[in-house]
Amino acid sequence: MSVTILTAYDERPDGTGDFVYRAGGTDLQERLRTTGATPHVLDLTGVPGFAGIERADAGTTIGAGTTVATVARELAHDYPALALTAAGLATPQVRAMATVGGNLLQRTRCWYFRHPHTSCFKSGGDSCPARDGRHLYGNVFDTAPCVHPHPSSLAMALLTYAATVDTTQRDGLSVGDVLGDGSDPRRDHLLADDEVLTRVVLPPPVAGERAAYFRAISRFEAEWPLAEAVCRVVRDDAGRVTHCGLAIGGVAPTPLRLSAVEDLVVGSTLGDDVVDAAATAATQGASPLPETGYKIELVEGVVREVLERVAS
Ligand SMILES: Cc1cc2nc3c(=O)[nH]c(=O)nc-3n(C[C@H](O)[C@H](O)[C@H](O)COP(=O)(O)OP(=O)(O)OC[C@H]3O[C@@H](n4cnc5c(N)ncnc54)[C@H](O)[C@@H]3O)c2cc1C
Ligand code: SF4
Repeated sequence: MSVTILTAYDERPDGTGDFVYRAGGTDLQERLRTTGATPHVLDLTGVPGFAGIERADAGTTIGAGTTVATVARELAHDYPALALTAAGLATPQVRAMATVGGNLLQRTRCWYFRHPHTSCFKSGGDSCPARDGRHLYGNVFDTAPCVHPHPSSLAMALLTYAATVDTTQRDGLSVGDVLGDGSDPRRDHLLADDEVLTRVVLPPPVAGERAAYFRAISRFEAEWPLAEAVCRVVRDDAGRVTHCGLAIGGVAPTPLRLSAVEDLVVGSTLGDDVVDAAATAATQGASPLPETGYKIELVEGVVREVLERVAS
């Protein structure tokens, strides 16, 4: 799969000035509308090789321009944790347009950031008005200057596969390399302005993988999660877990892979005692903001739910 993005650069209207890439446009267009920004928009859709899924012995490559709906449909058998997450986010209309690259690189949904008359770290300011203001949907793992969670559900699922990301400038980045750890509150991702995410690479599928995805949400549908979790397990003939990948989102500066909880689960038969211990352990290190204490119970609940689903 080869991608030539230079075509897009060549088409930049005056070769200078602000520009921004657009894939599905489901995040970008709303941001341009609400903030009134008018950068040059370089459309990535239609770039040859940008969309599509390729399977090989070494693994599976997902072009950055592949839609979320395609991932949900075509990877359900081989990568169920990723496919279930893709199927569970946003709405059918958004999933039909939104791309894998755009999902990973979408900007924060914080209402201060998206308001045309407020300024914060992420919009060029030097403070976080949400921290002392309203942050009902904010982090419960308060480990960064910006208190709003990273919005990418796919990033959370990709963590459980230890997927890697290629760009026009670098190969083999981890999801953590792309999203950072939130310590720079100005950034939602660490790609350069002129760096295009070209593909995501998954390891080969694992036979017998079981997976579950679950979210707590503030209305019936069409909303970002208050807390979400995804889990994939492989079990041996005796029902003992030989591999576990577990991650949560909607609660921290970036999605979190819960390695310590995975360690509790591996080797067990996923009995009630282990599920209880794992759900409790998932909240270790939580440090709620004044308005986000309710998310501790949600984290425990979504983790319990995915574990019970893969156990059943
Ligand atoms: C009602 C609603 C509910 C939603 N719920 C969820 C949810 O639960 N979970 C979730 O994860 N998302 C959710 N979303 C967000 C949605 O998934 C994103 O808007 C979408 O994935 C963005 O993809 P896109 O291709 O449209 O990106 P675009 O809007 O085109 O781009 C997003 C950003 O990424 C940059 N970009 C895009 N592709 C590339 C690339 N290849 N290289 C470099 N830069 C790039 C753009 O410049 C832009 O800044 C929701 C959206 C809506 C409207
Ligand atoms: S720094 Fe983050 S949480 Fe604070 S106002 Fe900006 S986007 Fe919102």
